Amino acid sequence: MRKPFIAGNWKMNMDGESAVALAAGLGAALSEVDTVDVAVCTPYVYLQSVAKALSSSNIALGGQNMYFEQGGAFTGEISCQMLKDVCCSYVILGHSERRHVMGETDELINKKVHAAISGGLLPILCVGELLEEREGDKTTEVVTSQVKKGLEGVTAEKVLAVTLAYEPVWAIGTGKTATSDQAQEVHAMIRGLLTEMYDASIAEQIRIQYGGSAKPGNTAELMANPDVDGLLVGGASLKVEDFSAMIKTVA
Ligand code: PEP
Repeated sequence: MRKPFIAGNWKMNMDGESAVALAAGLGAALSEVDTVDVAVCTPYVYLQSVAKALSSSNIALGGQNMYFEQGGAFTGEISCQMLKDVCCSYVILGHSERRHVMGETDELINKKVHAAISGGLLPILCVGELLEEREGDKTTEVVTSQVKKGLEGVTAEKVLAVTLAYEPVWAIGTGKTATSDQAQEVHAMIRGLLTEMYDASIAEQIRIQYGGSAKPGNTAELMANPDVDGLLVGGASLKVEDFSAMIKTVA
């Protein structure tokens, strides 16, 4: 059985004080929860203070991105080891905002996936189609290509470190959630693809999160699907009441 995994993506939000308050509030609200894996992916500059606030909690920490090189002249970038130094276990890679706002390619994202796994971080690899791609009936083609290219060269042994996040771009931060059936359809397609790329036993072990305007009111319905193993949550992860309510619903 796959243990549900819910991660909060704080994006470029919060300040020093509110970041620590949110982390401390979540730690207290979720102290009894052990049936769901929970992580928060905070802005880099708050990772250390959030790590301290979460030190006696069950909540793991993640970065929102990283570079594939280990160090050197890469102004503004951050390495896998740097994230590990500040207590990260996870890293989000290939988020749609990185792909579509910052112009990241599948090839770059694939290098980051390799670097994260070799460096000991657990990647959350995001994939998802744009609105025009969905309307043009291209969802399967786009998501298949992103999964294949993102995982290119990742061996069966190493792919078990990866969580996939299906995030239809038209549903991110828009308040428009994919219906439960739309989510399940793509998740099942991804699991079938993982079966082809690896084998059924590996595909059964890999967690696939849904992301895109997930909130307390739609958590139960989304999570009732057999192939939806968790959620990647943006806006609703910024409030203790909302994020903890979602996790308690799943627990
Ligand atoms: C996200 O940032 O990955 C996301 C899904 O955002 P939101 O929940 O706000 O749509």
